[in-house]
Amino acid sequence: MNDLSVIVDKLTCYARKNLGLSAADEIYARNAVLDVLGAPDYAYTGATCSDKTPEKLLEELSSVCENMGIFTADEREEYADRVMNALSLSPQNVRMRFAWRLKNSSKSATDWFYDYCVKCDYVKKSKLDKNPRFEEGGLIVTINKAKPEFRDPKKAASGNAVKGGYPKCAICRENEGCPVRNKRTLRTVDLTLDGEKWFWQYSPYGYFYQHGIAINCQHTPMHVDRSTFVKLAEFVDIFPHYFIGCNAPLPRIGGSVLAHDHFQGGGEILPMHRAVAWRRMERSGFEGFVEILDWPGTVIRFISRNKQALADECERLRAKWVAYSAPELGIIAEDEQGVHNAVSPTVIKTGRGYEMNVILRSNITSDTYPDGVFHAHPEFHSIKKESIGLIEAQGLFILPGRLEGELKEVEGYIERGEALPEGLLQFSLVYEEAKQLYNASPAEGAAAAIRRELGSICGRILENTAVFKDRQLTVNFMEELGFYLK
Ligand SMILES: [Zn+2]
Repeated sequence: MNDLSVIVDKLTCYARKNLGLSAADEIYARNAVLDVLGAPDYAYTGATCSDKTPEKLLEELSSVCENMGIFTADEREEYADRVMNALSLSPQNVRMRFAWRLKNSSKSATDWFYDYCVKCDYVKKSKLDKNPRFEEGGLIVTINKAKPEFRDPKKAASGNAVKGGYPKCAICRENEGCPVRNKRTLRTVDLTLDGEKWFWQYSPYGYFYQHGIAINCQHTPMHVDRSTFVKLAEFVDIFPHYFIGCNAPLPRIGGSVLAHDHFQGGGEILPMHRAVAWRRMERSGFEGFVEILDWPGTVIRFISRNKQALADECERLRAKWVAYSAPELGIIAEDEQGVHNAVSPTVIKTGRGYEMNVILRSNITSDTYPDGVFHAHPEFHSIKKESIGLIEAQGLFILPGRLEGELKEVEGYIERGEALPEGLLQFSLVYEEAKQLYNASPAEGAAAAIRRELGSICGRILENTAVFKDRQLTVNFMEELGFYLK
């Protein structure tokens, strides 16, 4: 009995119990795994496995294979992806099982599909569960240790295109099973939105519960138009337990892939969706009403049970906003650098009907704010320099992984009452403010002071992104669209 045979048998047993591997396909799948591993000596051992997730098995596989010289530590991820793919259902089989569940309950369908993506190791849930996460000042703050920090908006424009052009970008459906970027275990399911073919997949490094992406089957650039609002509403018709939203289709204020039309959503109600109304407005002719949110960003929430009326009204707002200039507020619709105004819509379905929250955004820059006038201001860049996209605009901040260690150090200096050393001076603002919080209530500890400070900074970053700093200006803007206070 050799170690390799043992782990291969354990993996096959795991796939039988967790990945839908049928008895009829067992020999075939085991041979596919042996093929991936270079056809080593093998003899059946009868080893079994009761794990529900693949991490421990994959660790064991790596340690056995690295000892035997089958692959190196650098190739670990690639081999894990190849082995798990050999043990997983084909995309068509996954789609059939998903569609069958969807007939009875969309929640059971998405729960099953998400669970499958964790079990086949596409969604790196065990890594995600290690990300620090806390709520502070009505916002959620997470530190993403699993995903690298993107600071380059040019990459977003190209959609992180691959050399050679296949797949055209990181989210094209051609990534399903693709060796590029180790997406062999990627599985997707079909969607039809406003008559167009789309698909749904989960994010390997999701930021929240069941974080997924709805993607156009065509590689076509991000845009927001009337059909976007219809598609978003249709998505929550299919998955009423999810929210779904679309990033603003412009650099600096949108997502990391602008080259390919897609939405982001999942099974968590984010803070902005819970924000209460500051003012309520109506318009004769609109079958519904709007709420100006009590929220640091500029957001108008459209509430209606009529999907077409909702889409018409949201599109009227979008069309007005993209053409809107108010130079005294720094808002310029278009100049020699191009169009600057865009909206980012995000919807949930509640007892009141559809609640489409439309976030007004501007990506304009100035000499004072070269990264964006309505972007996180420079004093906050040590905490967050990346684009404030849809997820953050809804109150869930994803901070870069480097912060965990850096802020731990700052915490120590506060606790010991020492000055910051030169290498940490970029955190002077955090240090000074957290020190005050700490001194005001030392019993809570320096770590709590840092958390409160981070929540406060994230709130101020959202204020930076507000295009109307005074909510009355939002009311005035809606009045120009025929709405009145009610
Ligand atoms: Zn694409």
